[in-house]
Amino acid sequence: MSRIAFIGLGNMGGPMAANLAKAGHQLHVFDLTPASVAAAVAAGATAAASAADAVINADIVVSMLPASRHVEALYLGDTGLLASIPAGALVIDCSTIAPASARKVADAAAVRGLTMIDAPVSGGTAGAAAATLTFIVGGSSQALERARPILTAMGRNIFHMGANGAGQVAKLCNNMALGVIMAATGEALALGVAHGLDATALSQMMAVSTSRSWATEVCNPWPGVLENAPSSRDYQGGFGNDLMLKDLGLAAEAAVTTGATIPLGELARNLYAMNSRLGNGGLDFSSVIKLMKASQ
Ligand code: NAD
Repeated sequence: MSRIAFIGLGNMGGPMAANLAKAGHQLHVFDLTPASVAAAVAAGATAAASAADAVINADIVVSMLPASRHVEALYLGDTGLLASIPAGALVIDCSTIAPASARKVADAAAVRGLTMIDAPVSGGTAGAAAATLTFIVGGSSQALERARPILTAMGRNIFHMGANGAGQVAKLCNNMALGVIMAATGEALALGVAHGLDATALSQMMAVSTSRSWATEVCNPWPGVLENAPSSRDYQGGFGNDLMLKDLGLAAEAAVTTGATIPLGELARNLYAMNSRLGNGGLDFSSVIKLMKASQ
């Protein structure tokens, strides 16, 4: 069993850390929010006074933070965590961040004799709780093999996409397609309902027809179609509109660096930005349908 430092115990990191504790790993945790630390302690982890305290004697460091700036601020600089992590430890960053940030932190880790992988996830909070996440990995094969038993305790599928940063690129591709598909699904349902169709009947037809998707079958944006979807609980929980907006912004940045054209990704980014401006930034991203419905 490994001695693991886990930094960032939010909607995703909290249940992921709990699954590592359940698998019998020795877990030292830190988060800026005391309530999140308390929940991890209740799940079997030991509270650390700081991130630097958490990594003392760690074999593995896992981080699950909101965005690039949080990851860079945690690890880099004279007082950054890389200076405190024991030599030889493996660092696994599961946050969704810019590929360039992932490479920058991994390069800085290598300078200090540390191995790092980017391992952003797909599967949402339900997948984090059920330990069924998909890990999308960038880094060396050797580092991934070392990480595999840790990742397996938190997820079901692992995809190795290439060198450092490649996991983030693949994650952004997935989320850009998801953001477009969710907006398209909302638009189709709103059109059908405006013509007097029943949203559930329309969704059931689409779910076995050529437009079938996760957005229709699992996270249907029309309230009441699926009892367990965020739309049926006023869009609470799930994957936040502003996290989708962040990921589409990262996709746009990534497109600029290669000259790729992402017209639908850019359009979707603007739709989620508009939804955020309406005050829906903290709601599940399927609330983007509010832009298309005749009445809110
Ligand atoms: P969250 O905001 O719920 O959690 C982030 C946590 O990080 C918070 O508890 C915060 O206090 C903590 N934190 C921030 N800076 C810190 C620091 N310096 N030291 C210690 N703790 C710090 O976010 P989340 O929903 O758990 O998402 C985390 C990452 O996973 C994001 O990059 C997100 O895009 C990605 N993601 C989220 C989902 C989802 O469904 N929520 C799904 C897939 C991927």
